[in-house]
Amino acid sequence: PIVYLNGTLTPLSEAKIPVLDRGFIFGDGIYEVIPIYGRKLFRAEQHMARLFRSLAAIGITNPHTRAEWMALIEQVVREHPADDQMVYLHITRGVAKRAHAFPKESTPTVFIMTNPIVLPSAAARQSGVQCVSMEDKRWLHCEIKSISLLGNVLAAQNAAEHDAVESIQFRDGFLTEGSSSNVWIVKDGQLFGPPKDNLILEGIRYGLIEELCAACGITFSACRITHAEVFDADEVLLTSATKEVLPVSSIDGKPVGKGVPGPIYDKLYAAYQEAKAA
Ligand code: PLP
Repeated sequence: PIVYLNGTLTPLSEAKIPVLDRGFIFGDGIYEVIPIYGRKLFRAEQHMARLFRSLAAIGITNPHTRAEWMALIEQVVREHPADDQMVYLHITRGVAKRAHAFPKESTPTVFIMTNPIVLPSAAARQSGVQCVSMEDKRWLHCEIKSISLLGNVLAAQNAAEHDAVESIQFRDGFLTEGSSSNVWIVKDGQLFGPPKDNLILEGIRYGLIEELCAACGITFSACRITHAEVFDADEVLLTSATKEVLPVSSIDGKPVGKGVPGPIYDKLYAAYQEAKAA
């Protein structure tokens, strides 16, 4: 595969980063993941806005205009044979002598790669997926799409060790999010999601789900959701760029609702597929 690194297109095997890159040394950078359907970026505007927010949040001067970013991404997408892809963008503060505080001068490292998008299987959609619960032990800036992902890595590993697709995390008894997804619950036909604050990454699908709920006549509220409310929900859903909307069948071995995907999932999944095709 061909990737973009600091101004050049190169085979992935030849893309090299200096060991003093602050991404390697400190995890000092941000990233973005954008789904591509039929060679077109899905929700491009929103992904660009979040990319810009992430850069600003950690004080990296944005090296490109929106148009330049789009051109770079489209270049990498064009090189790939698949029509449906998942583009990964990674920007670090660049290379500098090792010292924690920001260097006076550094040039951001920009890396872009793309892979075929791998969506959940038909079986996962039909039966729903297993999840496990765990305490959210990450830092308090989960709203930044930081490349420092150790907390998320450990949560994902916890899920893997329990044959689960995701760890559903709780902080002080309230739902936050999955290891790499947003989490939603359905109660009496209404959808609920945690507030968009510093305790979760606001997925690009968060805004999309709000729009789809409005379009489908589903009442949505953002509010703090307790552990008990999650376990008592009629449906639990996950969203992310690669999961789209995915139903949860069990948490910690306990069935969610009837233990099968419910009607709100069906509606939102159908609406999501329509949005993709539009
Ligand atoms: N929360 C976390 C921690 C994530 O890593 C992700 C993305 O993978 C999401 C939420 C969902 O975000 P998006 O809908 O933009 O993929």
